[in-house]
Amino acid sequence: MNKSAKPPRRSAADTALRGEIISTAQRMASSGLTPGKSGNVSARIDNGMLITPTGIPYGEIKPADIVAVRNDGTAMAGQRAPSSEWRFHLAIYKARDDVEAIVHTHSLNATALACIHRTIPAFHYMVAVAGGDRITCAPYATYGTEALAKNVVRALGDRRACLIANHGAIAVGETLRKAYDLAWEVETLSAQYARARQLGRPRLLSAREMNQVLEKFKTYGKQPPVKL
Ligand code: 13P
Ligand code: ZN
Repeated sequence: MNKSAKPPRRSAADTALRGEIISTAQRMASSGLTPGKSGNVSARIDNGMLITPTGIPYGEIKPADIVAVRNDGTAMAGQRAPSSEWRFHLAIYKARDDVEAIVHTHSLNATALACIHRTIPAFHYMVAVAGGDRITCAPYATYGTEALAKNVVRALGDRRACLIANHGAIAVGETLRKAYDLAWEVETLSAQYARARQLGRPRLLSAREMNQVLEKFKTYGKQPPVKL
């Protein structure tokens, strides 16, 4: 297989992938990213996605409760009802071929910024972890609607995270682990930005500085192979 070729897409029947979605959702809940039963998690599969069911507390979800939604928006009969946000999950997969997993949270500080419709600017170099020089806030639309899906896809652009006005945050990635870790970074950056704004006017990094960080991030953390 060509080194850059992607592995074949997983199927709706993939129990291991269903288990990974559940453990990601449970990690979100136990780390406080999804107060109450908020948020949702999905992973791309062949011809669609697997997504958490609507309204079921993450501690109670079993692999059979995870819902397969096809690219045309239909779900197989006899399954649980999918997350109310299946439209924006599906819209992101359709718009972004590089995205394999999506995590949506109502984490405290990201949501607080989203409630004042604040885009997170280049106040810290780590903003580049989301793939650009800012984390944009999508305009408000009612949860679960096609209008919200459109707003989210536009706000995300070619980046890996965005806020959603009066709602929460979204992080995407090549794996569930990467999407979850990014959701944590977004929450941390939101807390830091909110604190910095309490102290004064944050000094923003220039586009040139942020481009340098984005370049360095392409190889950040890559370890050479260990020779024994
Ligand atoms: P679901 O339980 O339907 O996934 O809804 C949670 C949520 O965060 C809606 O935006
Ligand atoms: Zn939500």
